[in-house]
Amino acid sequence: MLRFQRYASSYAQSRVLRRYPVGGLIHGYEVRRVLPVPELKLTAVDLVHERTGAEHLHIDRDDKNNVFTIGFKTNPPNATGVPHILEHTTLCGSVKYPVRDPFFKMLNRSLSNFMNAMTGPDYTFYPFSTTNRADFANLRDVYVDATFNPLLTPEDFYQEGWRLEHSDVKDSKSDIVFKGVVYNEMKGQVSNANYYFWIKFQESIYPSLNNSGGDPQKITDLFYQDLVDFHHAHYHPSNAKTLTYGNFPLEESLQRLNEEFENFGKRSRSDGKLLPIELPQDLEVRKAGQADPMLPPERQLKTSMTWICGEPQDTYETFLLRVLSNLLMDGHSSVFYQRLIESGIGLDFSVNSGLDSASAANFVTIGLQGVQDVDEFRKTVKDIFAEVANKPFNRDRIEAIMQQLELSKKDHKSDFGLQLACSLVPSWTNKVDPFESLLFDEILQRFREDLENKGDSLFQDLLKKYIVDKPSFLFTMEPVEDFSQRLEVEEKERLGRKLDQLDESDREVVYNRGLLLQEKQNAKEDLSCLPSVKVSDIPRKDDTFEVRRQEPNIWTRITDTNGISYIRAKRELSNSIPQELYPYLPLFADSLTSLGTSTEDYSDIEDAMKLHTGGISTMIDVSSDPITTKPHLYFRVSGWSLNSKTEHVFDLWKKLLLGTDFQKHSEKLKILIRGLASNNTSAVAEAGHSFARGYAAASFSAARGISESFNGVEQLQLINRLNSLLDDEESFQREVVDKLVELKNRIISSQGLEFFITTDSDPVVSSLAKQISQFESQLPQTLHNDGLDPTSFPLLPQKPSTLINFPFQVHYAARSLPGVSYTHGDGAPLQVLANLLTFKHLHTEVREKGGAYGGGASYSALEGMLNFFSYRDPRPLQSLKTFENAGQHALQEAQWDSADLDEAKLTIFQRLDAPISRKSEGVSLFYSGVTDEMRQNRREQLLDVTRKDVDRVAEKYLLNKDGSNAVVGPEIEGETVPPNWQIKNL
Ligand SMILES: [Zn+2]
Repeated sequence: MLRFQRYASSYAQSRVLRRYPVGGLIHGYEVRRVLPVPELKLTAVDLVHERTGAEHLHIDRDDKNNVFTIGFKTNPPNATGVPHILEHTTLCGSVKYPVRDPFFKMLNRSLSNFMNAMTGPDYTFYPFSTTNRADFANLRDVYVDATFNPLLTPEDFYQEGWRLEHSDVKDSKSDIVFKGVVYNEMKGQVSNANYYFWIKFQESIYPSLNNSGGDPQKITDLFYQDLVDFHHAHYHPSNAKTLTYGNFPLEESLQRLNEEFENFGKRSRSDGKLLPIELPQDLEVRKAGQADPMLPPERQLKTSMTWICGEPQDTYETFLLRVLSNLLMDGHSSVFYQRLIESGIGLDFSVNSGLDSASAANFVTIGLQGVQDVDEFRKTVKDIFAEVANKPFNRDRIEAIMQQLELSKKDHKSDFGLQLACSLVPSWTNKVDPFESLLFDEILQRFREDLENKGDSLFQDLLKKYIVDKPSFLFTMEPVEDFSQRLEVEEKERLGRKLDQLDESDREVVYNRGLLLQEKQNAKEDLSCLPSVKVSDIPRKDDTFEVRRQEPNIWTRITDTNGISYIRAKRELSNSIPQELYPYLPLFADSLTSLGTSTEDYSDIEDAMKLHTGGISTMIDVSSDPITTKPHLYFRVSGWSLNSKTEHVFDLWKKLLLGTDFQKHSEKLKILIRGLASNNTSAVAEAGHSFARGYAAASFSAARGISESFNGVEQLQLINRLNSLLDDEESFQREVVDKLVELKNRIISSQGLEFFITTDSDPVVSSLAKQISQFESQLPQTLHNDGLDPTSFPLLPQKPSTLINFPFQVHYAARSLPGVSYTHGDGAPLQVLANLLTFKHLHTEVREKGGAYGGGASYSALEGMLNFFSYRDPRPLQSLKTFENAGQHALQEAQWDSADLDEAKLTIFQRLDAPISRKSEGVSLFYSGVTDEMRQNRREQLLDVTRKDVDRVAEKYLLNKDGSNAVVGPEIEGETVPPNWQIKNL
C-alpha cells in the first residue's frame, strides 16, 4: 500500500485546499480527504454523503470539458442481462421527465460532447461531458432522475429487453417472434467471434460474474418484476458512486445530489466483491464457437492460459504486473511475440491476452488465435515463463516503458477527464481507492527505487509468486461448422416452448401489447418538460487556429504543447500508382512499421521508438477536396517526441521509409498478412454497418471507391488471397514482395513532400526546419506519372443491390446517395436533414419498432455523401424500405417545426464544437484543405438552415432518387435476399 505523503504537504495549491477543508461539510457531504496531484495539474477531493453513505469524488482541474458520472455496483444475479436491460430502461423515462426515452431526446437538446451509459461486468456507469455550464446542470438532472426515479414501465421492459410479438405487428396471423433492443444487441455480440471467445472465457473463469450483458439464450427468461426488484436493490445512494471533473463549481452538484438523497436512508449492505474460481490445480475448459470462413480449417483454434495474480486493490503490485506483461508481450522484441507469433505457433494474440484488472482479481493471460497445436503452445508458454524468471530483464525496455508513461502524461488530451473517470470508476466500485490510482509519480518513484535496490528479482519474485509452477486456467474454443445454424435452431426451439405455453387469451395479450407498444412509439409527445440549451448559446464565430507557412512546404502551429513536438509529413500520390496496386497501399503502410531494414530487425527499431519518441506511424489516406469533392490520395508519416528528441523522429522515419527491406524480412511479411487475415471476420462483425455503408457509397464517388478498396470487401478479398499463397514462394515473391518493392519506389520521394509541425516555440520551429531539410535531402527525387489518376478510379456498379454474406446472427443495412462538396450551400441543409431523419423518424422506425440496436442517417460533409444505416438489424430489408421512403416522409409526413430544427442543429454542433487536443489544432487544413474561412462559412450556413431549405434538399437529393444498397450478414433463404440481388461470398 502507498502512503499519502503529500496529504498534509505544502504544495502551492493552498487556494484549492482552502476551498475543500478536510472535515468540512458541503450540502450534506463531508470532505474526507484532499489530494493535490501537481504533475497532472489536478486536486482530488474525496467526500461522503453523511445521511446515505453515498461517495463522491471531485477532481478539480482547470479544464472546461467537465464530466459527471454516476455509477452503481451491480452484481448480476444470473445471465439474463438484468443489469444491462436496467441500464437501457432507466433511460426510458423518469418521474420528473415522463417522456419516452429522455436520454435519446437529450442527445439533441444538449451541447454535450459525450453522453452514454455502460454495463460493466459488476458495475453500471452513466457518464457525460460538456463545456457548457447550463448544459451540465441539465444533463446532471436528467441522469440523477433517470437513475433514482425511473418509470420502468412494462412497455419499456418489452421494448428494450425482450418480448414476443407478431413479426407484422398489425397482422395477428403473422408469426410470433422474439424482439427487443438488448436481445438483438446481444445476438449481434455473439456474432463477433472475439467477443464470444472473451465472454465464454469470462463465464468460465469468473462464473460468479454471470454475463452482465445477457446471454441471448437466457435473456428470454427475465420477467418484468425481476427488473423492478433489481433496480430497487441496487440503485440506492448507499450503493452509488458519483464523480465530477473540471472547472465547474462542486457545490452545485452536491446540492442537487443532496436534494435527491433526502428521500433515502442509509443501507448497511451493498453488493460485495465477486471472486473468480479457485485454482488448486490446472483446470481446462473447452467451448464450441463459430468457424471463421476466412481462415483455413487448421487455423481455427483459439486458446489461452491464465494465472490469477492477486487483486487490483494492491495498486503497486498491479502496476508491476502491468509493466511485466508489457515487457513480455508488447511489441516485436517481446519474448512472447517472438516465440509464439513469429515462430508461427499462432497467428495473433487472443483478445483476453495481457493483464486484466477490471474486476476484483488480477488475471495474467497468454493466449493465441489461429493455433494448430495446443500442447505445443502450452509447453512453450511454460518454458518461457520458467526462463524469464531466471534471466535479467533488458533495462532499456524497462526505461522505454517509463518514458512512454511520462510522455503520455504530458500529451494534451481533450477528453482527459472522461478517460480518467473511465479508468477510476470500475476499480473504485471494487473498493480500489481512487486516490492511490492518482498517485502517479509516487508509484513511478517507488518503482525506480525498487528496481535500483532489488534489481531483476523485483519481477522474478512476482513470476515465482503467481505464475511459474503455479496452476493455470486453460481455455480453448473449437470451431463448429454449423455453429450459427445451431444457434438458430436453439432459438426456434426456445421460441416454440414459449409459444406452446400460450393459450388463446395469452395470444390476444401478445397481439394487443404489440399494438399498444406501436401506438406509444408513434405518439407525438410533449417534450416541454425536458431542459434544453438553445441554438443561441452556440457562438456564431468559431475558434480559429493560426497556422503559418514557415517554408513553402512547412506549416507550423505554435501552441502550448508541454514541451512536445508533433511532426507530420504527407506526399500526394496523384497519378503515380497503377490501378492494380491501389489495394496494396494499406499493406505497404503497415509493412513499414512491422518488418525491419537490411541492417536492423524491427524489434530494435521499435525499442528505439519507445525509448525516444511517443510513437511513429505511417498511413495511406484518401480525402475529398472541399471544393470539388475530387479525391486526393496521400502517403502520410507522423511522429512525436519531447522537443529535445526530435532528431530521433527523423532518424526513425529515414530507417522505415528508406531502409525497410521487404525481401530480407519476407517471413515477417507473412506473419503480418496472417495476422491481418485472422482478424478479418471480427473486424466486420465489429463494424458491419461501416462495411455496408462503405460498399454502398463506392458507387458514387471515386474517393469512396478508393476507400472501399482500402478498407472494404475488396481489401478483405485481397488479404484472403495473399494469405492463401504464402506457402508458394514463387507466387509470394511475385504477388507480394515485388509489388511492395514497386510501391516503395513510387511512393518514397522528396518530390511534393509537405510538413506540419505543432510545437511550443519559434526556436524549436527553426531547429525542426533544419532537421526537415536534412531529412528531405536524404530521400530520392523520383517522380512517377504512369499510374491511375485517383479521379478516374472506377466506381462500383450502383445496381443491383448487394448482400455481403457473413455467418452472423444479425444484419447491417446501408443505403447511400450522392450530395455536394463541403463548400456547396446545400451541404448544410443536407446535414440538418440527416439529423432530423435520424432523431425524428429512423430511431423510432429502425430501433424502437424494427428491433435493431441502432439506425439512422448521416451526412458526410467532406465526402458529400448521404448515408443511411442500421446496426445489428433483424429486418434489414424493412429498414432499406424505410430508407428508400425517407424523402417522401420528409416532404409529406414529417411535421418538423423550428424546435425540431434547433435540436438537429444542437446535435451537429455537439460534434463540431467538441474540444480538440492541442496537437489537432489546425490539422484539418493540412490534411483536408479545409480553411478557417470555409469552416466559418459552413458554420453560419448550418446555423441559418430553415425548414424550407430542408424541404428543398430533400426533394432535390432524396425524393425518388436512385441510391445504392448493401447489406452485411447471413443469406437466409426467402428472407434476406430478393431474387435480383447480387451476393458477395468471401
Ligand atoms: Zn446495450
